[in-house]
Amino acid sequence: MSILYVVGTPIGNLEDFSPRAIEILNQVDFIAAEDTRVTLKLLNHFGIKKQMISYYEHNLRQRGEMIVSRILAGESCAVVSDAGMPCISDPGEDLVYICAQAGIPVRVVPGPSAAISALAISGLPTSRFTFEGFLSTSKRNRTDHLETVRHEHRTMIFYEAPHKLCNTLEDMAKVFGLERRLSICRELTKIYEEVLRTTFEEAIIYYQTHKPKGEYVLVVQGAPIQETKLTLEDAVNLAKQLIAQGEKTTDAAKKVAKQTSFSKADIYKQLM
Ligand code: SAM
Repeated sequence: MSILYVVGTPIGNLEDFSPRAIEILNQVDFIAAEDTRVTLKLLNHFGIKKQMISYYEHNLRQRGEMIVSRILAGESCAVVSDAGMPCISDPGEDLVYICAQAGIPVRVVPGPSAAISALAISGLPTSRFTFEGFLSTSKRNRTDHLETVRHEHRTMIFYEAPHKLCNTLEDMAKVFGLERRLSICRELTKIYEEVLRTTFEEAIIYYQTHKPKGEYVLVVQGAPIQETKLTLEDAVNLAKQLIAQGEKTTDAAKKVAKQTSFSKADIYKQLM
């Protein structure tokens, strides 16, 4: 039995491909690629010659079983997607699951991911965040998805295609409000990389005269924490976050007490 490697590939800049990723792709017996034509360009650039099989949304089940049996028979496989980390809004999740079920060791060769790259330069709080992926194309499912995060306090990360950006901004503004801040991260690591740190109101106006082009990640500020919605447990969790950032327990309890309706003593007691 051999190994499944989950290998991250660049999200736009080939220089981001790591020496270890090149070494592993050279080493494995075959590569399971989302689109073999896209991966062939990457392999050619780095002079890698390797057998490839396609592994994408519509052949996951049947190809997955085939990959597992090849690995169980002694071959090693690297799974890659067109760009970024496999398994993150990309094929791979199912393969990792079935390999793990079959007792196959799964190793990661980390590379860039648009979500984390965008979060890092968003200028929004990064200590707690949620990854929301793409909103559905169905109006009903989009609305349901957005409703589930209406009161989300953590920073939220969404992927979006350029032709849907304007509708998405409108839909999000209805749920999050026009004043909510967001960072619109475009074409990361590419020539036209750009970050618009703005509000929904300004963004909607901006895109009336600037046609969206390229790839986008939307990083949306979490909902403000309102005292009325906070439970004591929420307040204690906030204090724990401050402690994790280096605050003393008494100071954390005091700070959170100031922002909420709970007393310093109550928060402190729970923390202890
Ligand atoms: N697995 C990939 C990752 O880890 O980044 C994401 C794949 S998902 C199918 C593609 C989406 O990621 C795009 O529609 C866009 O939202 C985002 N994306 C990928 N590359 C990007 C880039 N260079 N700049 C901004 N967003 C990007």
